[in-house]
Amino acid sequence: MTETHPPQMNVESFNLDHRTVAAPYIRIADRKVLPAGDVLTKFDIRFTQPNVGHLDSEAVHSLEHLMAEHMRDHTDAVIDISPMGCRTGFYALLVGEHTPESFTPLLAETLEDILEATEVPAANEIQCGWGAHHSLTGAQEAARTYLAAREEWLQVDA
Ligand code: ZN
Repeated sequence: MTETHPPQMNVESFNLDHRTVAAPYIRIADRKVLPAGDVLTKFDIRFTQPNVGHLDSEAVHSLEHLMAEHMRDHTDAVIDISPMGCRTGFYALLVGEHTPESFTPLLAETLEDILEATEVPAANEIQCGWGAHHSLTGAQEAARTYLAAREEWLQVDA
């Protein structure tokens, strides 16, 4: 493990020292002003501690489907929700100015919906690229654990 951080890179999260964060948390990963003045906000929703824990692949996949569908029940601002390849969390891209404080209730409502869900939406071969690779209970377990730590979401640094 290197002691010093590598040189500045293009991707915001590549410039984040993953050793010094304390998951679970919510962090703004990017904010972009488009040519016409519209603003995009990208959140880093970190479920597990980087390089210490990660979510099961099925749980990540099902959480992706569940969050993508249920968050849109509460807002029209969602452009995209995608899992991180390291399986420690998700990115959410939203239209408009948002803060971790304003995003917290939206994320909490979404995760509460997931605890009530009786199926993973679009978990089939017509609507998904790996329809068999899902776990509702795994997704709900991860959502429950993350929700239980809501008091810690705004505390990013260890
Ligand atoms: Zn899928």
